[in-house]
Amino acid sequence: MGVELAYTDAVARETSGLYAKVANVIPKMEWHAYAPVIAEINRLKREKGAVILAHNYMTPEIFHGVGDFVGDSLALAREAARTDAKVIVQAGVHFMAETSKILSPEKTVLIPSMKAGCSLAASITGADVRLLRQKYPGLPVVSYVNTSAEVKAESDICCTSGNAVRVVETIARDFRTDTVIMIPDKYLARNVAAQTGVKVITWEGACEVHERFTAQEIRDYRATHPGIVVLAHPECPPEVVAEADFAGSTAAMIRYVGSHKPQRVVMVTECSMSDNVAVEYPQVEFVRPCNLCPHMKRITLDGILHSLQTMTTEVIVPADIAARARAPIDRMLAVKA
Ligand code: SF4
Repeated sequence: MGVELAYTDAVARETSGLYAKVANVIPKMEWHAYAPVIAEINRLKREKGAVILAHNYMTPEIFHGVGDFVGDSLALAREAARTDAKVIVQAGVHFMAETSKILSPEKTVLIPSMKAGCSLAASITGADVRLLRQKYPGLPVVSYVNTSAEVKAESDICCTSGNAVRVVETIARDFRTDTVIMIPDKYLARNVAAQTGVKVITWEGACEVHERFTAQEIRDYRATHPGIVVLAHPECPPEVVAEADFAGSTAAMIRYVGSHKPQRVVMVTECSMSDNVAVEYPQVEFVRPCNLCPHMKRITLDGILHSLQTMTTEVIVPADIAARARAPIDRMLAVKA
């Protein structure tokens, strides 16, 4: 790392408030390793005028330790458009960093690992979208934000799991159509179709994390944990969503826990979510299925530190693609919450 980092009295004092917050999810021994890195990252952020946008799937030492803005893709996209920081460090995967760059072209956007991809974003290219348009002329293309800038550039509007229903209803109304092309997540598309009545033509993409959950697994949770409330992400297969008490984006799940305060809950989504939410709701018992996203887990505290020390790796989106990709993102952001 280039700097000798140790758990000194000064670091302990500086991070004691943070530790008090995360003590129920991070053991003290681990904290001794994290705290000096957290302190140094927070110092570098001030020095470089940087903010860290941390996705809900980051591990707690990142999410609570160094994240300036935390949330789902939609919240992070809104923050990227709003922040006046000079530098954005994306503690998330590559398509999120591209979205930040598209929304803030004048800012330096860094990602700690260029290998932090996404099975959904990797499943489709801009050329695929052009072929879909040829096959289904006149139909609007709704792209999940989990796509490359090149795919967004070929789309009419973007959506996140948090606003997909409203986006599909809005674009179907604007295009006076009962059918939309919704890419690339086949499960999200089917779940949205079931909720809206809008027909969807979709793509064979899936999230490798949410696809692994099964309806039987949900029934097993109910059998072994009586009274458990099941919250599922809409990237899960429809039969999993059908078994859940509530389906929604990561932000919607957090709101559900906050407003309902269930005694016992399982969040059928990426593993780190429960840890991050448990910090805020220590009275709720979280049953934790551990499906990790290998891409999200490429973002580490040491990687973030290295990123800020070396100002790497900068995310670049070619100007022509960025300009075309911005329109569908702006159109999404204009859809009322
Ligand atoms: S959790 Fe799924 S959708 Fe999210 S980055 Fe990982 S692979 Fe992509």
